[in-house]
Amino acid sequence: MTVTETRLGGASSALGPPVVDRLRRPLHDVRISVTDRCNFRCTYCMPREVFGPDYQFLRRDEILSFEEISRLAALFARLGARKFRITGGEPLLRKRIDRLVKMLSGIEGADLALTTNGVLLPDQAEALAVAGLERVTISLDSLEDHVHRQMGDTTAPVDSVLAGISAAERAGLTPIKINTVVRRDCNESAILDLVRHFRGSGHIVRFIEFMDVGMTNGWSLGEVVPADEILARIGEVYPIEPIDANYPGEVARRYRLLDGSGEFGIVASVTRPFCGGCTRARLSTDGQLFTCLFASQGLDLRGPLRADADDDELLAIIAGRWQSRNDRYSELRSKATVEIPRIEMSYIGG
Ligand code: SAM
Ligand code: SF4
Ligand code: SF4
Repeated sequence: MTVTETRLGGASSALGPPVVDRLRRPLHDVRISVTDRCNFRCTYCMPREVFGPDYQFLRRDEILSFEEISRLAALFARLGARKFRITGGEPLLRKRIDRLVKMLSGIEGADLALTTNGVLLPDQAEALAVAGLERVTISLDSLEDHVHRQMGDTTAPVDSVLAGISAAERAGLTPIKINTVVRRDCNESAILDLVRHFRGSGHIVRFIEFMDVGMTNGWSLGEVVPADEILARIGEVYPIEPIDANYPGEVARRYRLLDGSGEFGIVASVTRPFCGGCTRARLSTDGQLFTCLFASQGLDLRGPLRADADDDELLAIIAGRWQSRNDRYSELRSKATVEIPRIEMSYIGG
């Protein structure tokens, strides 16, 4: 009996019950990286000393085509995936990304969003919405222009990101999530600035603890601003209370402002790991399947895909990998785990 028959109740079912891993976690989310290139050089993600003019990005023929990505996405959906996130690198650098959005939006029951640094949104938001994109997450580390430029190592002004947020709003790609990486001695003042700025807008700021993802960003525990501190800083000014997760396995802990003016989230991968509820698979730009953000190695799907593997064969490969998964890096984080080689965020997709 094939994987299709056992798990999915026959090849005709578009969406099947989830496969589960060794810790009983279902496959629910897939983050798809569509490019390893970026127009920013955020110091915590793609430091310019490493990702400089000599850096070898993937060649065009190494990168999955839109057709290849959508075929794999449909197979992930048949194994239970419901949330698809297009990411990178900077996904809006990939030519005609709206075409991929259109193809993915055809997957029945799929929730589709895209994560971007926002500066290319004014030109693309409308086309993305027309193609079927539901929402965007926009990264913004500070409202202060010099802090934003410094953390992003970019000449793009903070106003260009704010223009991207407005364009997404006009196109109806809402509610917008704003991702803010908090790094000690870099942008701590952004915490209150951003809560204040986005109160009443309907957008949701999510503060992310600086993570030791990849090997190039010079991470140290001392530069992590813990979730408890972020919460205390906000709580000193605005009365807040925790609210329930939108769904099991949501990575951000949610809080609401008691005056009803909005909510924010905190992603505390370092101080409050959430591996127990981690239901995310990641597909790299060149078609490697990763089952953890901190993995050293992926499983090649591009090889079989280009060797004409049929759907059942691909389903068996993906399901087999997920069923053997026991990743829980953040729960095990220690001096020893920090030494293990980890793949870069810009390649695997954040
Ligand atoms: N370029 C797009 C962007 O910046 O939104 C999408 C890709 S980026 C890798 C996805 C997310 O990962 C961003 O919100 C970014 O802030 C976050 N990120 C990157 N490096 C990080 C790190 N070391 N710790 C925490 N978050 C990180
Ligand atoms: Fe580029 Fe996003 Fe990484 Fe910043 S976080 S360097 S915008 S991929
Ligand atoms: Fe998931 Fe790995 Fe992050 Fe744990 S460390 S939450 S398993 S991606």
